[in-house]
Amino acid sequence: DLIPVITIDGPGGAGKGTVSRILADQLGWHLLDSGAIYRVLALAALHHDFAPEDEESLVALASNLDVKFEVENQKELTHIILEGEDVTMSIRTEAVGNMASKIAALPRVREALLRRQRAFRELPGLIADGRDMGTVVFPSAAAKVFLTASAEERAERRYKQLLEKGFTAKIDQLIAEIQERDERDMNRSVAPLKAAEGSLYIDSTDLSIDEVVDQILMFAHGKL
Ligand code: C5P
Repeated sequence: DLIPVITIDGPGGAGKGTVSRILADQLGWHLLDSGAIYRVLALAALHHDFAPEDEESLVALASNLDVKFEVENQKELTHIILEGEDVTMSIRTEAVGNMASKIAALPRVREALLRRQRAFRELPGLIADGRDMGTVVFPSAAAKVFLTASAEERAERRYKQLLEKGFTAKIDQLIAEIQERDERDMNRSVAPLKAAEGSLYIDSTDLSIDEVVDQILMFAHGKL
C-alpha cells in the first residue's frame, strides 16, 4: 500500500490518544481514533435502549451510523458529531466506554465498521489508534506499535483526565473497571487486543509522553 500508516494499539489509558495526536501533528498526517467510533456507536445504542447482546440491531445501527469527525485547525480538538449533535464530551464517560467494549466484542459489528475506519487512510499518511489497528484494520501498515502501562498507572491517568474534564471518579473503581475492560478486550474471540507481529512494544509506565513519541518516531523512521 502506498499510503503510509503507523498503528498504535494497546489498552485504554496507556497514552495512545495523546501520543497519536502529537505524532499526527508532527508528521502532518491524518488521525483515526477508532475507539471514538465504538464509543459513538455505544452512545447511539444507549439512546436507542439496545441491549449489548442485540447484535442484529447493533449491526444495523453500525451500518447506518451518521457520524462526522470535524477537524478544526491542527492542535484543536476534533469535534465528533452524531446525527447533528456534538458528542465529543459525552462519549468519554465510563458508562459509554463499558458499553463500547461490550458491543466491540460482536464480530458483525466490527465487520460493519471496517470500511469506515479504512477510509481514514489518506495521503500523506495516517496514525491509527485502537486495539486492532495493526492486526486487523491495517495489517499492511509500515510501522506497528503496541503501547501499554500498568493498570494502576492507567487508572491514575484516567482519573486525572476525568477530573480535568469536570467529571468525578473513584480511583479504586477505575482500576477495577480498567481491569474488567482489559479482560474483555483481550479475551474476545474476534480481533482481541494483542501486539501485532513485528510491532514495537512500549511500556509507558515510567516514560514521559515525549519519550514515547521519540521512540515511535525512531522506530518508524527505520520502517518508512
Ligand atoms: O480506546 P477507547 O477506550 O476509546 O475504546 C473504547 C472501547 O472500544 C474499548 O474498550 C474497546 O473495547 C473498543 N475498541 C475496539 N477496537 C478498537 C478501538 C476500540 O474494540 N480499535
